[in-house]
Amino acid sequence: MAEQYDVLITGGTVIDPANGVQGAWDVALKDGVVAAIGRDLGQADSAIDASGCLVTPGLIDLHTHVYKDVSSFGIEADDLCPRTGVTTSVDTGTAGWINYRGLERYVMEPSSTRILAYVNLSGVGLPWRRGEMVYEGYVSASECAQTVLNHPETALGVKVRLYKGVGGDTDIRDLLQIALEAANRCEKPLMVHVSNADVPLRNLIQPLRPGDIVTHCFHGTQPASIIDDQGKVISEAWDARDRGVIFDIGHGLGSFSYDVGRAAMEDGFPPDTISSDIHSYNIDGPVYDLPTTMSKFLNLGMPLGEVIQRSTIEPAQVIDREDDLGHLRVGAAGDVAVFELEKGTFELTDATQQVLMGEQRLVCRASVRDGKVWWQG
Ligand SMILES: [Zn+2]
Repeated sequence: MAEQYDVLITGGTVIDPANGVQGAWDVALKDGVVAAIGRDLGQADSAIDASGCLVTPGLIDLHTHVYKDVSSFGIEADDLCPRTGVTTSVDTGTAGWINYRGLERYVMEPSSTRILAYVNLSGVGLPWRRGEMVYEGYVSASECAQTVLNHPETALGVKVRLYKGVGGDTDIRDLLQIALEAANRCEKPLMVHVSNADVPLRNLIQPLRPGDIVTHCFHGTQPASIIDDQGKVISEAWDARDRGVIFDIGHGLGSFSYDVGRAAMEDGFPPDTISSDIHSYNIDGPVYDLPTTMSKFLNLGMPLGEVIQRSTIEPAQVIDREDDLGHLRVGAAGDVAVFELEKGTFELTDATQQVLMGEQRLVCRASVRDGKVWWQG
């Protein structure tokens, strides 16, 4: 008797970089997990025809802001994620140690998107665009670490933004030390925002530990660029990568430059993870969503399999969820995305207003979350 599944995705090309799978296979889901990959698998309650499309693990966006109405950055995860194939959205410090429980209660719990988060070193998180650590009473390594420890199901680590003036006159190198103290206390990773910093990047990455994350790694602002005067990646970035520091895109409104990205990749330094830094100030451009950010890397010459890898299994490893997320092994979480690779001419703008005329782009056609059809376009 033919097997009965909940969802069957047929006719597409599966790309599952974690398992080295790329080929014409059907994917079956049952009871919330990946149940089988093969051909002629059987019957299902719901079917997705993925003919002509790519079938990938559900995307993991490692840098987002989804604390809507509490932060001016916040967007509604469930409005965006289903139609863009993002099954896991990682909120990066929109909530701090004072208001973290609100993020859980009012955002994570009611959302169908899987939402995890880094806790901001500033107690108030990011209520508005700037100044979250000007009042020093908001900055506490011990409170931040305790909040991470108190929420083991949702909190991944510590987030700090290190731009000029974030702590008033306080040197951002001192704030970095406090953030590291918080991360050390809870024994979790630290994610560091490095764009618009007023010190060289080496000062911000030399102290980082294996597993810590540099986000906005290809931003175009000085003096904290990853590219030196000769157009090469600074030696401290290579050293950091060697010891296991993660370099994440975090495109954002002002934090991704094609020139910097091209120079770094020509030097043999691609990003580890491709994330959007989606928020209210860039969702109507230039970011739009994660597939658009991924398309920029495709058109910069990164191979498709690598683009998928850096938006699925790589971020899964960064958040220590490679057992169940970011791949399509039997038993993995039932999170799947279906994309069309559209051919044509597409205007793709970076965060420095530079336009790349792309020849292809990824457009989500369907998504599956927790083993159920989540969205179909
Ligand atoms: Zn951000």
